[in-house]
This record gives sequence, C-alpha cells and structure tokens, in this order.
Amino acid sequence: MSVPFLDLARHHLQLREEIEAALAAVVASGQFILGPEAARFEEAIAARCGVPHAVGVASGTDALLLALLALGVGPGDEVVTTAFSFMATGGAIARTGARPVFADIDPSTFNLDPDRAEAAMTSRTRAILPVDLYGLCADWRSFEALAAKRGVALVEDAAQSMGASLGGRAAGSFGDAAAFSFYPTKNLGGMGDGGLLTTMSAAVASRVRLLRAHGDAGGYDHLEIGMNSRLDSFQAAILRVKLGHLDAWNAERRRLAGGYTRRLHDLFSSGTRMPAGPGNPIVPPGPPPEGSVPIFHQYVVRADRRSDLIDHLRSRGIGCGVYYPRPLHLQTCFSGLGQRRGSFPESERAAEEALALPIYPGLRESEQDEVCEVVAGFYGVRA
Ligand SMILES: *Cc1c(COP(=O)(O)O)cnc(C)c1O
Repeated sequence: MSVPFLDLARHHLQLREEIEAALAAVVASGQFILGPEAARFEEAIAARCGVPHAVGVASGTDALLLALLALGVGPGDEVVTTAFSFMATGGAIARTGARPVFADIDPSTFNLDPDRAEAAMTSRTRAILPVDLYGLCADWRSFEALAAKRGVALVEDAAQSMGASLGGRAAGSFGDAAAFSFYPTKNLGGMGDGGLLTTMSAAVASRVRLLRAHGDAGGYDHLEIGMNSRLDSFQAAILRVKLGHLDAWNAERRRLAGGYTRRLHDLFSSGTRMPAGPGNPIVPPGPPPEGSVPIFHQYVVRADRRSDLIDHLRSRGIGCGVYYPRPLHLQTCFSGLGQRRGSFPESERAAEEALALPIYPGLRESEQDEVCEVVAGFYGVRA
C-alpha cells in the first residue's frame, strides 16, 4: 500500500458533475475574466469572512502585492514579516520597492512572534505582515495592538488559512487587508492560479480594483499605473462550487489532525516537548492557542533526523513534504539584506525539523495508521 502526499484527482472525483455544470455555465455566459461569476464568488467570500469587501485577483502573490501597494507601501519603507514562510511573503514586499525586515517565529506555533516583530521595527517601518502558517491564525490580538500603538499598517497573509478563525473572527478579517491564494494545493484550491484580497476598508478595496486592471477608472482613463491581475471566471466558478464544501473539508482535516496527534502521542509518548532529538524523535503540533480554530492546511511535526526519515517514508510509498527547507533570510535573493545563519535560530531550526504528513479530505484512517507505523518503524518504536 502507499499513501500519496496529496491526491487532487481523488478529491475532485466527487465534485465532477457540479464542477462541469459550473464550467458549462461560464462557457455559455461568454465572460471569462472577472464578470458576474467572479463577482458572486467575491460576495460569497466577503460574507464568509465577515468583511464588506473582497477583490478577486490572479494569485495569492498578487493579492499580497496589491494589498501593500494599496496601503501606500513603497521604496524607502520597511515591512516586518516572518522569516519562516513561502517566498511570496517576502517577495511581495520587495516587489513594492520596500525592504523586507524578517523576524523570528514562536517555536510553539511556527508563526511570527509579536515581541520579536516589535523589536525589528524602526522609524521606517510602514507595515507588519504576519502569516497564518499551515492554517493556524497568527497572534492577531497582539499584532492589532502593536500596529495601532505604532501607527503602521497590518496585512494578513491568509494564503493557507481559508476557514480558520481566532476569537470567533475569520482568517481574512484581521488587519487592514488580507490575501488568499487559490493555488490548487491550498485548502480552497482552484484548477489554476487565483487569489483574492479581503478588507474592511472601502478605500483599499476600490484602489485594488483599480490597480488590478491597469488603474482604469472606466473609459480608458488610467488614474494610476497598475497591473493585469484579474480572477479568471472559470476559476471563480470552480471555487464557488468548492466553497460549498469547505466547512466539511476543514472539519475533516481537523479530525485527521487529531487522529495523527493521538497516534503519535501513543507511539512516542513525547507530548509536545521540544526540541526534537534522539530521545524525542517526533514532536506533533501542540494544542492551538486559546480561541484559535486551525484548518490544518498542513499537518506538520518536528522530526529528528528528518532527511533520513523522508527517505524511509518515500521508499515505502508514503508521501511527505517540507514547508519550508530554507528560511527567507537565507534565500539567495535576500542575501543583500545582511542576515546570516544564526540570525533567526527558531526559523532555522523549524526549517531543519518541519515535516508535513499527508492530510486531505478523503484520507483514510487505515492510511493514517500506515503513515504512523512507518514513522514508528524508522525510529525503532513498536506500533
Ligand atoms: C501559496 C502562498 C502564497 C502565494 O500564493 P500564490 O497563489 O501561489 O501566488 C503566499 N503566501 C503563502 C504563505 C502561501 O502559502
């Protein structure tokens, strides 16, 4: 038997008729860029997130870039963000002409640590950009207080957290603007690229609507220089079908995550004590902070001897992934920013230890058993 890391074909099979009908309706409408289908999807997301405005764009990366641009971030500014995220988080900041300023994570959540973020702020800090990594909300209570105290903008990278919440508020509702991604592997994924920005601010929303279409106010009068970043109508139609299932899928992810954690605690009786090491080979994710409801975009453990474990898993047909093997401050493209190995020890340790196990709607309990048995076998623990 083997357990794929992600099986989108299996996942989409159950939706085939619904999706084909939605695509046929787009063909019949003759509108393929934005249009009524994208507008309906924007409304559905805004309602879900409890925000007045949602703007569909071409990718999650563009949603981040447009959020920063609409908030006035540009050359000479600094934006404080986590050293442990996907490249797009740091890349979007740099693309505005601003300087990404990285700060370390809280090792118990893998998310940006508010105290370390504050310590990284200077008089040039224009915004803070925390990420809801793996589908767990960042510490928004602290970040909202910090942004208010220091008078800076706050942007949420919610690319991995559609459906997560904190204190009853949905991911996508924190800060001045939030960015979602619909890259196919995201927990609300399209069948191509797509993204969306949510905001409480009418001014930010209308500026992003301008910027996503070359600053065109209508009638070919271009108020400012924007870009071409619009949500495709086919993707919007697919996403609207999938959105109807999202709560059930996220609940299933939580159940699967609980199943892994229970099994791993039984096998390794290690609790969530850190770090991972010879006497403590697997550290499952700890319980979420008070009031936080994660959606487990990824189920990530810390693993001792990770690369050997990965080889062992793959040789037995078990898929796994590493998000992310290299923190942002050690990326070649950011080498000019002056950070080096040792600058952010928690991010660096996470990059060495983090291992994502298969988690997706439709994953079977017998498959989870097998994953855990193979992990236990590698460390010589009897399952
Ligand atoms: C996927 C992702 C993005 C970028 O989204 P795209 O749609 O691929 O451009 C940004 N930030 C994080 C944390 C992501 O996981």
